[in-house]
Amino acid sequence: SVLSRTTEVDIKGGWKPGDPVPYAALAKVFGLIEATTKRLEKTSLLTAFFLLVIQRSAKGDTKSLLQAVYLCINRLTPDYVGVELGIGESLLIKAIGESTGRSLSVIKSELKKEGDLGLVAMNSKNSQKTLFKPKPLTVPFVFNNLKEIAMSSGHSSQNKKVSIITKLLAACQDQEAKYIVRSLEGKLRIGNAERTVLVALAHAFVLAEQERANKRSNKEKLAARLEEAANIIKSVYSELPTYDLVIPALLEVGIDGLHERCKLTPGVPLKPMLAKPTKAIGEVLDRFEGKRFTCEYKYDGERAQVHRLEDGTVGVFSRNSEDMSKKYPDLVEQMPHCIKENTKTFVFDAEAVAIDKDTGKLMPFQELSRRKRKDVRVEDIQVRVCLFAFDLLYLNGEPLLHKSLLERKQLLREHFQQVPGEFDFAKSSDGETTDEIQAFLEESVKDGCEGLMVKMLEGDASYYEPSRRSVNWLKLKKDYLAGIGDSLDLLVVGAYYGKGKRTNVYGAFLLACYDADSEEYQTICKIGTGFSEEALQSHYETLKPLEMTKPRGDIKVGGAKPDVWFEPKVVWEVLTADLSLSPVYTAAQGLVEERGISLRFPRFIRVRDDKAADDATGPEQIAEMYERQALAQTKGGKKKGGD
Ligand code: ATP
Repeated sequence: SVLSRTTEVDIKGGWKPGDPVPYAALAKVFGLIEATTKRLEKTSLLTAFFLLVIQRSAKGDTKSLLQAVYLCINRLTPDYVGVELGIGESLLIKAIGESTGRSLSVIKSELKKEGDLGLVAMNSKNSQKTLFKPKPLTVPFVFNNLKEIAMSSGHSSQNKKVSIITKLLAACQDQEAKYIVRSLEGKLRIGNAERTVLVALAHAFVLAEQERANKRSNKEKLAARLEEAANIIKSVYSELPTYDLVIPALLEVGIDGLHERCKLTPGVPLKPMLAKPTKAIGEVLDRFEGKRFTCEYKYDGERAQVHRLEDGTVGVFSRNSEDMSKKYPDLVEQMPHCIKENTKTFVFDAEAVAIDKDTGKLMPFQELSRRKRKDVRVEDIQVRVCLFAFDLLYLNGEPLLHKSLLERKQLLREHFQQVPGEFDFAKSSDGETTDEIQAFLEESVKDGCEGLMVKMLEGDASYYEPSRRSVNWLKLKKDYLAGIGDSLDLLVVGAYYGKGKRTNVYGAFLLACYDADSEEYQTICKIGTGFSEEALQSHYETLKPLEMTKPRGDIKVGGAKPDVWFEPKVVWEVLTADLSLSPVYTAAQGLVEERGISLRFPRFIRVRDDKAADDATGPEQIAEMYERQALAQTKGGKKKGGD
């Protein structure tokens, strides 16, 4: 079916072997992908497109496929390089006006009606009479211009951006303007998760391989091969999450050579392994029964993945693969103190925690968040930070992901040393009984931690699983034991104006979760109590620039009616005592019941700068929390009845 789709995607006569990829072909695929909700269909369309790119690229050309892949996931560089799109509405409106001659008020009123600036741009273009057919856009041309826009900064950059966007729009035909504008906004909204892109890449390479060998396998054999290829690419990409290296390697050595060629490399941050929440020590013991495990303090700071490259450069990366070396120059500077002589290149996983300068005591996250995020100079640092290392992923040229945690921890201790106030190993205990774990948990809380992380120590199950929320790491927070449950990470998508003293700021906010499958934001609750005047002021300053004329098309609004809408960018961590079914909000609709799920009495905990919109809590997790709560209530009820 993929091969027949290549004709759908193809631009007849306009895309010859060796030519740059026409942007029209990409826009066509986007259109087809957007028109279907079926994941398999989205995958096969994308596979067809990648197959054409592979087949029509000149020998030795790795750029075409690389740029096509980046445009499909709407990025321009790997995450850690930090070149991002996300151009504001007003700038885009200005450019649409300039390139189509429409007045800004007409564009704005159409935007109010459509809720999608991409669509407005396309309609504006299509209603315009053009005398000359513009020169067709190509993928490299669009890619390079988007990159130039994303990289231009400073005062005069606004005009430059508008002029490049105007130039791009002037050359758009058919659906192209829609996708260029959405790319510029930072969200394609075609329901094209990165997972789909990886699978489609794998499939395209298998099919290209078969075509080249002029081989047709039977159906079962082909299906098995496709699955194997997808697993290889997914696993390689989780170890080396950069298309800049994976795509050229794929083109050179093919799927089967990929594992050997692409391994974890210092300088390229991995997506961290995450933990599953547990409600009780009993649950931990059930999971780890008969296995060796270890309990570690769950420090309340910020995750830091520390890399040391061959040339001695040290990089500190956030949970989100952002380069934090500028935020933590002190950590970079201190690094040589904790390294033993035999330690050259490495990647370790740690928590950066604020500590009291005089006593060395752990300070809560709030203290850490007082640090500036950029342009920090070591001599100005007020809040001291100590690294608590808990895992070693790479050492002296060798990836350690497939060694047991026991071995990794041993290597960590053999190659690093404690430096008071700068570097320490996460405190751990191998106690196995409920009483021992309970005592260690209480100790951790007394020392200023959030609770414990309980981890499998031996065997395959203790390997490091990048980017996975794994059952081999369980988190046991003091909040869960108090019956509150895990916190949620939610996006601020709207706000309500304040009353009384609060009329100059927003007084309450509309929050949403994120469904990665449908690429949709689903509303979940209104939150408005517990904010200080100061906090409201600071939220206002952060959110005001994100205001939008209308809820963006990918926000599933339901019955929520805030006074203003925002681009979904800011993530807040929120606790709730209770979840309930709701006729108003849309979170997890259809998962537990037709109605959505809402948070009752939500409480704001902190802003999560280290999380992006895609990292927000998903509807499945919310449905799971609701079901656990319902289960706990019936269990509790029964117990009571029996008393
Ligand atoms: P949260 O931080 O809200 O618990 P999260 O989604 O950031 O959620 P989780 O998987 O829930 O991540 O918890 C793991 C986080 O706890 C890690 O990302 C890390 O920042 C922190 N942490 C603190 N101490 C440890 C430890 N000993 N081992 C692993 N992670 C730890």
